[in-house]
Amino acid sequence: MLHKLKPASLYSSILFLSTLPVNPGAMAGVNEDARFGKFRDAFIEIYWTIKPVDALAAGVFKSDSVPYIPDTAFFGKQARTLVGLRDSLGQFDPTKLSQSYRVDYRMILDRIESDLWYLVVFREHEWNPAWYNIGFECSQILGDRRRPVINRLQSISSRLKGATRYYEAAVANMKIPVREHTDLAILQNEGSLEIFEHMIPDSMTTAGMSLQELKLLQERLMLATNAIKRYVTHLKSLLPSLTEEQSKSFRIGRELYEAKFRHDIHSKYTAEEMYQKAGTRKSEIQQEMADIARKLWPKYLGNTPMPDNDRAMTRMVLEKISLEHVHRDSFMFAIEKQIPELVAFVRNRDLLWLDPSKPLVVRRTPGYMEGSGAGVTISAPGPYDPDGNTYYNVSPLDGYADEMAESYLREYNKYTLQILNIHEAIPGHYAQLVYANKAPSRIRSLFGNGATVEGWAVYAERMMLEQGYGNNAPEMWLMYYKWHLRSVCNTMLDFGVHVLNWNEKVAKKFLVDDAFQEEAEADGKWRRVKLTQVQLTSYFTGFTEIYELREEVKTLRGPSFSIKDFHSRFLSCGSAPVMYIRDLVTSDY
Ligand code: ZN
Ligand code: ZN
Repeated sequence: MLHKLKPASLYSSILFLSTLPVNPGAMAGVNEDARFGKFRDAFIEIYWTIKPVDALAAGVFKSDSVPYIPDTAFFGKQARTLVGLRDSLGQFDPTKLSQSYRVDYRMILDRIESDLWYLVVFREHEWNPAWYNIGFECSQILGDRRRPVINRLQSISSRLKGATRYYEAAVANMKIPVREHTDLAILQNEGSLEIFEHMIPDSMTTAGMSLQELKLLQERLMLATNAIKRYVTHLKSLLPSLTEEQSKSFRIGRELYEAKFRHDIHSKYTAEEMYQKAGTRKSEIQQEMADIARKLWPKYLGNTPMPDNDRAMTRMVLEKISLEHVHRDSFMFAIEKQIPELVAFVRNRDLLWLDPSKPLVVRRTPGYMEGSGAGVTISAPGPYDPDGNTYYNVSPLDGYADEMAESYLREYNKYTLQILNIHEAIPGHYAQLVYANKAPSRIRSLFGNGATVEGWAVYAERMMLEQGYGNNAPEMWLMYYKWHLRSVCNTMLDFGVHVLNWNEKVAKKFLVDDAFQEEAEADGKWRRVKLTQVQLTSYFTGFTEIYELREEVKTLRGPSFSIKDFHSRFLSCGSAPVMYIRDLVTSDY
């Protein structure tokens, strides 16, 4: 249970924490764990007060009516609080904590260090105008289905008092904006108008608010839309001056990239090492693909003369196999039918225990989530709502023109669709999330590591095929490799663009020639790599570390190694960085 924590008690809590008696040596173990457990709970409470937007994203709404103004005073308070929390953490000796608590200790320390780095060094609030958008916060509040609509609207109404000051702070904070992020900020903030002009007004009609409340909310909505429009106008007026010479580059460069990689990924490897590893893996995969494609050639291309170039030959076979796909009208049905098949495979091969009380519900993507473009997504209840349903959202292809539907279906052909379901659902993201929500502490989910989460899903694809899913059909392996090559090449692309200065032409040629991607996909990826940093490396880095860990445990365990046991132990640790999970799972052997 969460208790209310008023801002006034914030500093007294820190004071309390740092004056707890330090008693080294005595009563180590259980008592130290208990003492740390108390700190951990208090830490989370304090943490949400300085990270109000993260709180909403995590499903914590208790202070959602307080206007959030991201001005320098707020950043100062954030920094001071983080330093205070780090000092408080210093009273614990991690070597005296039991292993599971030690992981939480490290994750809390990592989070504090990372937040301070973002605030003091990375300073995205000074160059990324898309960092600001009140629409996100309000849509989170509006979407909190656990309380009556009237309640959510009252919170939004009160919060919007700060709308004008919010965007004034945004303009004041901005030093030299990045052109690409400015374009994005315009697009996304204009997109947010929908929330204030339609979504909120629509839900007002039946919420049961008093006339006075309604009038006030209407005024505040006006305030919000005006503030957004002023911000957008301001950003548009900056655009002509944001030339390549005068604006800040979207490339963050080697030093910031390596640091961000450390903070975001927590790998035992550096970003550069992962770039090298990916390069090696890419060549191996291309070779394996060419070998399979050559064998499949007669089956799919008959007597057509085979090109000398391996890459061209592989591409031609890939194109033929992609023609095998479900009909556009049965896309959703095909997915629905496949989930129980995947469950049965995992059970029969004894790969992982799947909680039968948490079935995955396949549903049509609800309207309020449409428009993300993605064909399928997982909606999971957060750590604060462990009993909520997990949904597999599928967007049917109804709205697609024939040509677009065809191209989409070729991409998610008979084979790739199965790999997608393994990745997103079973035993990928969905299975991982069910375990993560049962992890020993909330820290593991709240500060969950993206490389562990994505790495697990990518690992699941490989593991299923190794276990014989798809009957070792060469088509399945070929499509798997194409899919896997995407994670590998994403790692290279991200480093290549941000550190090695790859330009658009080099980047797109790389994606098309080396990763067998279509022009449209390469265009989208080029957009994404300009707007994000490091995230694209999380898939392959997480995969690499999980795979290596499994092989290590296999060796340690010898003939008594059980893959089910390894998977259960791994997932039971929650979404901690793989290097911390390693300590937990190898110490048992
Ligand atoms: Zn077709
Ligand atoms: Zn994923």
